[in-house]
Amino acid sequence: SYEEAVSENRKLHNEIQELKGNIRVYCRIRPFLPGQKDKQTTIDYIGENGEIIVVNPSKPGKDSRRSFKFNKVYGPHATQAEVYGDIQQLVRSVLDGYNVCIFAYGQTGAGKTYTMSGPDNGSEEEWGVNYRALNDLFRISQSRSTYKYEVWVQMVEIYNEQVLLAEISAFIALTYIIGEKICMDWVKRETCLAVPDANMRQVNETSDVLGLMEIGFRNRARSTTSMNERSSRSHSVVTIHVRGTDLKNGGSINAGLHLVDLAGSERVDRSEVVGDRLKEAQNINKSLAALGDVIFSLSQKSVHVPFRNSKLTQVLQSSLGGQAKTLMFVQLNPEATSYSESLGTLKFADRVSGVELGPAQNNKASSNVKELMEQVASLKHTITKKD
Ligand code: ADP
Ligand code: MG
Repeated sequence: SYEEAVSENRKLHNEIQELKGNIRVYCRIRPFLPGQKDKQTTIDYIGENGEIIVVNPSKPGKDSRRSFKFNKVYGPHATQAEVYGDIQQLVRSVLDGYNVCIFAYGQTGAGKTYTMSGPDNGSEEEWGVNYRALNDLFRISQSRSTYKYEVWVQMVEIYNEQVLLAEISAFIALTYIIGEKICMDWVKRETCLAVPDANMRQVNETSDVLGLMEIGFRNRARSTTSMNERSSRSHSVVTIHVRGTDLKNGGSINAGLHLVDLAGSERVDRSEVVGDRLKEAQNINKSLAALGDVIFSLSQKSVHVPFRNSKLTQVLQSSLGGQAKTLMFVQLNPEATSYSESLGTLKFADRVSGVELGPAQNNKASSNVKELMEQVASLKHTITKKD
């Protein structure tokens, strides 16, 4: 009966609330690139249980092996489809009102953009998380008969502690003023990025989504060199906003999926850079450190969470923390010469990985019981795997 369904729904909802949604950390090792001659690697071992061991290639042996454990480790052969398959439930939970943040962290060249966007001019097989998620949310939101959904896309670049809306980022050319009014309204409900004049574009049909991707690829290809240069020094944030109305009881859901391709985490030798380049490097260090601090203090349930220490954490403030689910892809370059950067990356990931963020739904609304059950199963699965 309807009452039973409601009670079951409530039970499952509570179950989700109680599951401690640790921040999920998935480590991904990119393959050696074609034509690369020296294939000496710093990766010593990849375990099925999420363990990874790196070794210092200049002093190989027991003493230089360092072991880390995450929710998952992908070796160089993992496909884009496999990776997306593992995060699909998390992405889809946005349709039930959860805010979700997905980050890619790592040194330049370690595969952040490959994971998030895929290669330039890539085939559908090679699409990254951004496109798969957008397509998926769009498709599912259209197939649900009990909800009416609106989907909006927003893209910004954070460079030198400034939020850029109309710069050379591949996607920026796609933003339209059209969504502005609605976005402003959403800011108050804290589901929009905290960027007052950010533009959004509404997608109405699958062809819009495909159009977005095409223009994005075309723009990127046009200025590949300068883009790569620049993109390694800025954070790119793609946000998919979903607004859903329950057609039965009028309840509504507002939630966002934030897809963040972070600036390269490599340490820049201070003796070698001056002027603008030094300022950039300092801003990157500052914002990545601030992100680590925010996630860490959320894990410690600190009263004061230092969101205001960087633009990145300010912009994401309403989407991190108790109300949100967070996943970080930690990207590694397998080359022996990357040992010390890889170790730095792993240490950062280790610090943020012990985090307990209790996921909570943004708005009160009845959700589809079957989907909730799937979600519970998937969360349990993730947690079991972590243990
Ligand atoms: P980043 O964004 O971290 O600087 P990229 O995503 O641009 O790094 O990756 C660097 C290079 O490695 C690119 O040529 C990319 O296509 C390639 N690459 C990265 N990850 C993979 C992967 N999993 N499979 C195949 N090629 C990859
Ligand atoms: Mg990149």
